[in-house]
Amino acid sequence: QAKKEGRNTTRFYQEEMDQWIKKRLFLENALRSAVKNNELELYYQPVIEMKTKLIIGAEALLRWNHPELGLIMPDEMIEIAEESGLIVGIGEWVLREACTQFVRWRAENLRQSHIDRIAVNVSAVQFRQSDFVDKVIRTVAETGLVPSMLELELTESTVIDNIDIVIDKMNRLRHAGIGISMDDFGTGYSSLGYLKKLPFTTLKIDRSFVRDIVSDTDDAALVETILSMASIFKFDVIAEGVETIEQFKFLESHGCQYFQGYLCSKPVQVKHFEELLVHEIQSCAAQ
Ligand code: C2E
Ligand code: MG
Ligand code: MG
Ligand code: MG
Repeated sequence: QAKKEGRNTTRFYQEEMDQWIKKRLFLENALRSAVKNNELELYYQPVIEMKTKLIIGAEALLRWNHPELGLIMPDEMIEIAEESGLIVGIGEWVLREACTQFVRWRAENLRQSHIDRIAVNVSAVQFRQSDFVDKVIRTVAETGLVPSMLELELTESTVIDNIDIVIDKMNRLRHAGIGISMDDFGTGYSSLGYLKKLPFTTLKIDRSFVRDIVSDTDDAALVETILSMASIFKFDVIAEGVETIEQFKFLESHGCQYFQGYLCSKPVQVKHFEELLVHEIQSCAAQ
């Protein structure tokens, strides 16, 4: 009996496994044609200055409109894109698209005069390419974006890779005028020593620390520590995932300069982002 059950269990896992592999292969193949078929789209989430409550920038976030599966989120595709290498081409598309859109916004008359930064997420696989920096600089030049308006978002796992090469690449980007954020700060393994060595311009406090700042004294202390450390290193700080007025007030009173989060807006499509810019005063719940 036990033996039979064992076999059934094995078969069950085998079937699940086959399903999983099938799904992955299907997604990988579909993703391969997604760029070409115009199925990728960038959504934009506003970055708000706490003091003025104005939208000062945007983060571009990838979405995939699959003809049959519908809207696919990054968590379901980035890993597949990385493991298949497709992320390199997709990342190039994301950067070009975001720069082009931002140049267009700056040129149009949308009361947009205070939006001056566009943030783009970069995968470790992309950053590791030897021609990464050259390609970024070329894309910025070709799209006509002012380099200091671009902010590349790297995560800790990307920068602990091979420190000398990483520092060299970051320095070349910085010398070109491009800003670099550490995304999801606090979730990885980077030490104070790394922070001191790496030429970041901005820290983004991961939303897992922001979530309970009002109720959890440990999280509150942690965020306070990050904020005072950031001021010593002279990093800008963006708090991610701000959803309530209470979180906003806590962060503002502890010297955080910028935030993103549902309190103001989710990532939205181009047209909707333009409405946010035009109707800025009403759009941000933090008012
Ligand atoms: P991230 O860069 O840390 O982006 C922030 C994520 O938090 C976004 O999820 C955003 O929708 C979500 N978020 C923002 N505000 C709130 C809030 O107030 N509450 C909650 N619960 N969530 C909030 P999204 O768009 O699903 O992206 C997930 C991750 O996928 C990103 O995390 C980033 O690591 C990656 N990603 C997105 N677009 C790209 C891309 O173009 N290239 C690469 N390499 N990675 C990307
Ligand atoms: Mg990001
Ligand atoms: Mg993040
Ligand atoms: Mg994240």
